Parts: sequence; structure tokens; C-alpha cells
Amino acid sequence: MVSRVIPVDPFDLVIFGGTGDLARRKILPGLFRRFCSGQMPEGSQIIGAARSDIDDAEYRNMVSDAVEEFGGGRTCERGTLEAFLDTIHFVTTDAKGDGGWNELNGKMRPDCVRAFYFSVGPSLFGDLAERLHRFGLATPDSRIVVEKPFGHDLKSAKALNATLAQHFDEAQIYRIDHYLGKETVQNLMAVRFGNMLFEPLWNAQYVDHIQITVAETVGVGGRGSYYDKSGAMRDMVQNHLMQLLCLIAMEPPAKFDPDAVRDEKLKVIRALEPVDWHHVVRGQYGAARDAPSYREDVENPKSSTESFVAMKCHVSNWRWAGTPFYMRTGKRLKARTSEIAVVFKDAPHSIFGVDAGRHRNVLAIRLQPNEGMTLDVTIKEPGPGGMRLLDVPLDMSFAETLGAEAEEAPDAYERLIMDVIRGDQTLFMRGDEVEAAWAWTDPIIADWVMRNDVPKEYEPASSGPEDALMLMHRDGRKWREVKA
Ligand code: NAP
Repeated sequence: MVSRVIPVDPFDLVIFGGTGDLARRKILPGLFRRFCSGQMPEGSQIIGAARSDIDDAEYRNMVSDAVEEFGGGRTCERGTLEAFLDTIHFVTTDAKGDGGWNELNGKMRPDCVRAFYFSVGPSLFGDLAERLHRFGLATPDSRIVVEKPFGHDLKSAKALNATLAQHFDEAQIYRIDHYLGKETVQNLMAVRFGNMLFEPLWNAQYVDHIQITVAETVGVGGRGSYYDKSGAMRDMVQNHLMQLLCLIAMEPPAKFDPDAVRDEKLKVIRALEPVDWHHVVRGQYGAARDAPSYREDVENPKSSTESFVAMKCHVSNWRWAGTPFYMRTGKRLKARTSEIAVVFKDAPHSIFGVDAGRHRNVLAIRLQPNEGMTLDVTIKEPGPGGMRLLDVPLDMSFAETLGAEAEEAPDAYERLIMDVIRGDQTLFMRGDEVEAAWAWTDPIIADWVMRNDVPKEYEPASSGPEDALMLMHRDGRKWREVKA
């Protein structure tokens, strides 16, 4: 198979927060990998910007270390790293002051695509947007990339949208949700809308329910002070899980273009019914023999923030009426796995009799680890002894099926940054989508606050609190096993 890379124009990319964790772990190594793949056109430059008083040489050393540590072992021809580092510059810039902005402006070229990545805390987004204009860096064609969290609730998200809108058009604002950059997530759209096979079955008549699981084995680690003010609902459900739900549930857009896709996603969010509190389970991980509890991790002995959420929701429209969507996400669970499972209904009549048991087709889309898809189909168990049935997966691991091409596929950040340069907003959240997601999430959180809800403690390395299992058992269903 021949890899088809869509060329991009030469660009100037400024990374505000260029010395921070996200820049070092994701953005810079991702750019290096694109450079190795020949996707960074000659004449492009990357400019780190932060308050640190360092020069180009010191920043290049930092970038080189970041590529080595987080580059995923990508090997390139000799001299490639040096050539990449030649494209890197640094300007000491204060988002809240006037220092550095004129020098930064002097480095921008008039004939290049301009992108400004706001890899800093959201409290600085407004300052950066305002100064980009005041110091003349922003052109009508410039793009800004903003990181999550996009607001803490509907009110703050609206305020943030309004602040950015003072300086940039919606078509210039790229709100990143890196889940949308994952290969499998886009494959979900290819599977749904590129095949005749699935779409006719993709509705309440044939689908019993849908499960979305994003499980992590890590705790909150060094993010404790941020996470304790946020929790799983704000940190994961309002954005990542909501986006996955949208892609599963949306109507086919007329074409694969940014507004057509985002219009359909928005309709899904708006069709989400308010969630009954009986249908939400919150959890918090306890201590293990060798690992601290959530409360110890965040150094807040009375914290009632959830590190786990499970819920049942309904998309109230013709396609999905009566089909529940179960979502769960949590930290310190027994395996790191993200998957979407579409569980089809039983065949209407079993010609094999009741002894053959219950067999269901399940289409599972694995986001991690080992991106791929499985489709469980029912076959005859081999051998003598009559007609016994067995469910076997038709298994497609991208790495095995597509070989080197899958390994070379850009990771989520790489792909999304290149989409920014290309000016393609399809995989980025629009302002109204984010606000609609908060409008649905806020009442759930407000209800917890009103009821002084305390999350259920769950054992580390488990599947979460018992109540989450009951959420499905009560409906005669069960979660798929959390396994790597
Ligand atoms: P971080 O490690 O704390 O880095 C913050 C960066 O901002 C540093 O480069 C810092 O450099 C710079 N900075 C702080 N104040 C500044 C100012 N007044 N003017 C200019 N630069 C300033 O944070 P991070 O983890 O990289 O996160 C950055 C953003 O990405 C946050 O919004 C975070 O929520 C989001 N995010 C991060 C991750 C992740 O994995 N880290 C994942 C998803 C989203 P100086 O101190 O030198 O100025």
C-alpha cells in the first residue's frame, strides 16, 4: 500500500508554553516525527515561547532531549535531528506582559501559514489572543490552537469563547480534543459511512446498547491539584467520551467537511436526555498496598472528587429511542484500555433452541492499546456432538493488518497539528459543541453538589465500584471486561 501524505504549505508555528510538559511530551516529538516523514516543508519554523530566559541553543538542547525521551524511538537518517533542530527557535515571551512580543513578531514571515499553539493554562488564553493582535502577529489567516480544559462549566466556557471571539473568527480557532485525532476514531467514521454493511443496522431496531469505556491504570499522579478541582466528569466525560458518543450516534453528514460533521455531532449532544441521578455512579480509588489512595494523591483527606464515573444515557431521537448508551471512565483500574462496543440485539428466533444459549454480535472498536476492531460472530463449535454455538471475533489489529503503514501512522497530536496547518477543522470542536456539552454536564455535577454526594471507594486494579456493575446488571446487561 502506498502511503498518501497530503502536502502542507511552509508554516510558522509558535508554541506558547514551549518549555512545558505537553510541548515536551507530545507536540515537539510529534513535529519531529512529521519532519522525519517529510511532511514539514522546507522553510517552516517552530518557535517556542515562554517566560524562561533561554536562547535558541538551550531550547534546541531541550527539544533534542524531548525527542529522545518521548519520540517513540523513531529512527531517522543521520543528520535528520540536526536538520529538525535548525528549524527551532525560542523567544522569551510573557503572556501577561509586553516582553518578547516585538521580537516574536520580527521572526514571523509574511508568506507562511501562521499557527499559534496555546499550550499554557486556560487563564492565559485571553492574554495571548489580545497580544497577538495588539503586537500585529495575527493575520486574517492565522490559526490558534487551544488545549483542554475548555472551561470548567458552561459559564466559563461561554466566557472563554467570547474572549477568543473578540480577536479571532470561529474558523481560526482549533479546540483540540486529541481523542478525535486517533486513527481508530476516524476509522469509526470510515466503518460507519464507508460500508454498506453496518449503517442499515446502526439504530435502535438492531442495536441493543452501546458501551464506551476509557480505563486507565495510572492514578492522578502529579496532576493532583488540577484534577481534584475537575474530576472524571469534567476531565474525561464532558469532552473525550462525549466526542466518542457523538461519532457513534450521529447521522451521516452530507460530506466529510468540518461544519457538516460538527453540525451532526451538535445535534447528538442536544438530543442527549438529562441523566437521572440513579443512572450515574461516581467512584474514588482507595489505597493499595504499594500505592496511595486518591485522597493521598491529591493531598486532600476530605476530597469528594470522583476518579471514576459510569452512567447510562439516552439519545432522544428516532434513530436511538430506547437504546441506552453506557459510558465509564476511571483511573487506577485494572487495565489501560479504551473501546467502544456496539452490542447488537439477539436474533429474533433461535432455530437451534434454548440450549444454544444467547449469542450476540458485538462490534468493538479499540482505541488503545493495539488500535483495531473486532466483530464477534456466532459460529458452530467445531467437532462432533450436535449444534453447539460459539462466538468468535473477526479480529483486525491495525498493526498486524496494515504492517509498517500502521506503525508509521501519525499519532493524534501529529495529525491534529498538521490539520491545523492545512486549515482543516473537521477533527476540532466548535464553540457551540463545547457549550452544548457543558450544558448537559453541568446539571449532573450540580446535582452531586446539591446532594452532597460522596463517591464510592473502589479497589485499585479493579473494574471500579460495585455500583457500576449493578448499573448494567439491573438492566440485564453487563460491562465488557476491562482488559489490556
Ligand atoms: P506546564 O508543564 O505547567 O507548562 C506551562 C507552560 O506555560 C510552560 O512552558 C511555562 O513556561 C508557560 N507559561 C506559564 N506562564 C506563562 C506566561 N505568563 N507567559 C508565557 N508562558 C507562560 O503545563 P502543560 O502540562 O504543558 O499544559 C499546558 C496546557 O495543556 C494546559 O492548559 C493543560 O491543561 C493542557 N494539557 C496538558 C496535557 C499534558 O499532558 N501535559 C494534556 C492535555 C492538556 P515558563 O514558566 O517558562 O513561562
